Amino acid sequence: MLNVNHVTKKYGKLLACNDVSFHLDKGSVTVLLGPNGAGKSTIMKSIIGLLKYDGEITVDSHFNKTSEARRILGYIPEMPSLYPNLTVSEHMEFLARAYRLSDYKEKANCLLEMFELSDKKKKFGDELSKGMQQKLNICLGLLPEPGLLLLDEPMIGLDPHAIKQLKTLIEEMRSSGKTMLISTHIIDSVDMLWDRTIIMQNGCVKANITKAELDACGKTLEELFFEVTEGINPDDAKAAPGEEAQGREEAEVR
Ligand code: ADP
Repeated sequence: MLNVNHVTKKYGKLLACNDVSFHLDKGSVTVLLGPNGAGKSTIMKSIIGLLKYDGEITVDSHFNKTSEARRILGYIPEMPSLYPNLTVSEHMEFLARAYRLSDYKEKANCLLEMFELSDKKKKFGDELSKGMQQKLNICLGLLPEPGLLLLDEPMIGLDPHAIKQLKTLIEEMRSSGKTMLISTHIIDSVDMLWDRTIIMQNGCVKANITKAELDACGKTLEELFFEVTEGINPDDAKAAPGEEAQGREEAEVR
């Protein structure tokens, strides 16, 4: 479904993505992990077509900047960018028109209900709290039901109810054959159904492994993460339980 081939992105002299390559299968959930500044958002923005880069990205065999690929691609950005003069309902309508969606109202109402925004339909974008803005951001990303959905740090700012709903929706979309790439720097937030994890650090892919392969190694995702990003051997960690416990408490990796 998605092929990222030798993508390199520089901001001036800063190498944000360094020869990044990976492939996502249709109907799979891939978690893109990495510390802050690893290059996760940059590769996401490159895939969605917001950045210029060296290399090649195809979506279902179409180059990512073609109209065919754009029809398949969906994106939930890390930072919601809402219109201050549009209400919640008008945001949904605006998006539905942009994607030429017919019969979107029932789905829109269902999403707003799930994310507890039904009673906020007449509120303007700048009247919503940060968490509500993020919920609306998610509803807008989900409304077109894209074949390939990129979610950049989607759990940030969400309350537990919204996180639960989002996880349920991700599982439902996966069951209906949608492909998802979810970036996060919080390992604990991905204790859900995922098929593959890609770990990035300093702009490079440091690991690319399926859940089945990880389970076969007998490692947790957290153990793999620290092994790859900090060179910590899980056996050494076991020899120092105090340090390991501390590592577990600090699930947010800086
Ligand atoms: P992540 O999403 O993993 O936190 P980013 O892709 O946002 O990482 O950033 C990768 C690197 O690129 C960081 O060093 C960051 O400071 C830099 N960077 C990101 N966006 C820009 C930009 N617009 N201009 C300059 N540098 C940027």
